[in-house]
Amino acid sequence: MTVTDETITKLDVDGLVDQLLADMPPKTTETVAFLREQFDRGLAFVHFPEGCGGLGGSPADQIRAQRRLVGAGAPIAMLRNIIGYGMVAPTIVAHGTERQKARYLRPLFTGEEVWCQLFSEPGAGSDVAGLSMRAVRDGDEWVVNGQKVWTTLAHLARFGLLIARTDPDASKHAGLTMFLVDMKGPGVEVRPLYQITGEAEFNECFFTDARILDEDRLGDVGEGWHVAITTLMNERVSIGGNSAPRGSGPIGEAVRIFKERFGSDADPRAAVMREEVLRAWVRSEVLRLTNERAADARRRGTPGPEGSVAKLAFAEQNKHVFDLCMDLMGADGMLYSGTFELVRPNHTAIGTPDMRKAFLRARANSIEGGTSEVMRNILGERVLGLPGDVRVDKGIAWKDVPRS
Ligand SMILES: Cc1cc2nc3c(=O)[nH]c(=O)nc-3n(C[C@H](O)[C@H](O)[C@H](O)COP(=O)(O)OP(=O)(O)OC[C@H]3O[C@@H](n4cnc5c(N)ncnc54)[C@H](O)[C@@H]3O)c2cc1C
Repeated sequence: MTVTDETITKLDVDGLVDQLLADMPPKTTETVAFLREQFDRGLAFVHFPEGCGGLGGSPADQIRAQRRLVGAGAPIAMLRNIIGYGMVAPTIVAHGTERQKARYLRPLFTGEEVWCQLFSEPGAGSDVAGLSMRAVRDGDEWVVNGQKVWTTLAHLARFGLLIARTDPDASKHAGLTMFLVDMKGPGVEVRPLYQITGEAEFNECFFTDARILDEDRLGDVGEGWHVAITTLMNERVSIGGNSAPRGSGPIGEAVRIFKERFGSDADPRAAVMREEVLRAWVRSEVLRLTNERAADARRRGTPGPEGSVAKLAFAEQNKHVFDLCMDLMGADGMLYSGTFELVRPNHTAIGTPDMRKAFLRARANSIEGGTSEVMRNILGERVLGLPGDVRVDKGIAWKDVPRS
């Protein structure tokens, strides 16, 4: 069935949410039981097709359902599996077989099976299509060798979305294939990497003759880049496209700290600081409204370059607001509670109430999910139509491209 505006508006999302809340009161229902039921009733990802945790609705339906459920105290699936929820699920829906959708989506949503994203390598981050990890076919299986890096929450992950090179004779984008890999299987080793916060949210992952069944290939052989684009576009929307309600989130924290520290006009710095906070508040509000408008305009399918624009704006604004929080806190901003003993957290520090930690964690915002420089390239080329970035490896077999 083609989803038209008419069918979209017919969905009684509010009624379905009310029914779920009445049948499974969040306060007295066990988290996984609630999330399973939410998935089965199509209220996990309302904009996905039926059977995939959705009802074939619109992104706006999804946002409405999610806001109402969160407001009623329901568990937040995204926080239990941030990569799986925001990036892997839409990729499986867009490119997966019926078996893959049936096998993976439900436990992904409930957080019973955490996922990670295995794209970046030591020699391929911004230029991820230049990656070196090899997958070689062996009957009904693929044998994988190589290294991934910066893999968020790999230490918790049951499965990973892995992109590997299956044809070194093809040009870099053409020789890639996507897989769903068992992170607990033989030949997979996950090692922690320290971050500036002192925690190790991310990892380096080594694959030594790890085996993947061909039925866990996602998309056709050689179509890995096409599949990866779905993941990357969703990643950008996932990172940049979810604004906190008006006046809340990081800017809400800045206003709170300002009131605490500069509540009285007697402080000679109050006027200057008030101006800074106001400026940041206006920019946060513009970003929130822009995201709302983009979400409203978006319909089902792979998000376009607006996701990259939102991601760029979010990263820069987030860093700016947390810088401002540190300025407002003065010398207190230096009293960081982190011990720098190796901690392997079970979630990312995004959204932490500790402003010092939030300030440190925000440094990564303009790197993770594609750097701000790369987002500007996309903005320049795909939105403004400016001349493209220099690409010296275009059309050359990957194996013939010089690399260090
Ligand atoms: C907290 C965090 C979590 C992450 N989680 C994951 C994850 O779960 N899975 C995963 O696969 N990856 C993950 N990453 C990796 C991330 O996607 C890469 O770090 C990012 O794409 C940049 O790649 P790089 O680090 O190799 O830097 P490089 O690509 O080497 O870039 C170095 C510098 O050169 C600039 N640059 C590069 N190319 C261009 C260009 N064409 N034009 C202009 N400037 C350019 C960059 O902007 C940057 O400043 C994570 C990173 C961070 C920081």
